[in-house]
Amino acid sequence: MIKNIAVLTSGGDAPGMNAAIRAVVRSGISNGWTVYGVRHGYRGLINGQIESMGTRDVGGILQQGGTILGSARCPEFTTVDGRKLAIRNLNQRGIDALVVIGGNGSQTGAYELYKMGFPVVGVASTIDHYLVGSEITIGVDTALNIALEAIDRLKVTASSHQRAFIVEVMGRKCGYLALMAGIAGGAEAITLPEHKTDPEEIAESLRLSYEHGKNHALIVAAEGAELNARTLTEFFVAHRDRLGFSVRSTILGHVQRGGNPNASDRILASKLGAGAVESIAKEQFGVLIGLNKSKVTATPYEEIVGKTKELDEELFELAEKLD
Ligand code: ADP
Repeated sequence: MIKNIAVLTSGGDAPGMNAAIRAVVRSGISNGWTVYGVRHGYRGLINGQIESMGTRDVGGILQQGGTILGSARCPEFTTVDGRKLAIRNLNQRGIDALVVIGGNGSQTGAYELYKMGFPVVGVASTIDHYLVGSEITIGVDTALNIALEAIDRLKVTASSHQRAFIVEVMGRKCGYLALMAGIAGGAEAITLPEHKTDPEEIAESLRLSYEHGKNHALIVAAEGAELNARTLTEFFVAHRDRLGFSVRSTILGHVQRGGNPNASDRILASKLGAGAVESIAKEQFGVLIGLNKSKVTATPYEEIVGKTKELDEELFELAEKLD
């Protein structure tokens, strides 16, 4: 019989994490359970920063970016001793199950905890998109729209000055956000970690665009690509005479993570948070709650941990066709 559960957010924050916390707390309480919030991810689990939460504690957070519980990266949790300490703290408070809201690293940590015998359920939340087990993760859609808004604005100023803009988009080793932002923003070129791009080809396409009278050019670079904002800028500065355009670069960085979650992310987070509670009620542990074919699903950790999503090559071909 489940009586008490805990929830934490871990790793890189993502817009919608708060909506997921709210869904876990409120659906847990409606099942008659006590719900605890853990501060600062796995660090709070080890330090014992675990407090009970009421329905009102999660009032007014649905629309807020970030996470009210705080998130952290915690090297100690990667050790067996660190995780033993975490389990001891959970057991001391009589907690029967833990919900981990986070991305690849956090879900790997959750799996390790589960393998040590503690009941865990994960919720897929990261803007990096490479987490297997959910077609879309909490935060991706908002981050994409923030990148797109920045791109649209930069295009306006680029046009006024006949400039080429390099926009670097977050996403670690996953090019998904850059690819989608590039397609939606009408980029002349997109650089991705998954594909090698010749800077000569980009320079040539900029020169042609300039000669054809285009008044701006846009290159979207993924932060994890070999050709990121820094390396591309260095290349273009060295070849500035043949480009026509003058080049500027903007790194969106954490701006992309900090926005208020949009409608899709709020709804996704609400579904997945409530889905995690349903999974606990069924005593189905060691699974990641995600969205697949529009349905909330529970995928066993052993099927997803250690894997990463592949880039959709058809989308890459589409981007090449449209540039
Ligand atoms: P994200 O969840 O955004 O991918 P990180 O990769 O930074 O975030 O991972 C968040 C935390 O998850 C790490 O600081 C660590 O505490 C835990 N973690 C990551 N990998 C492991 C692992 N192999 N074993 C145990 N814990 C891990």
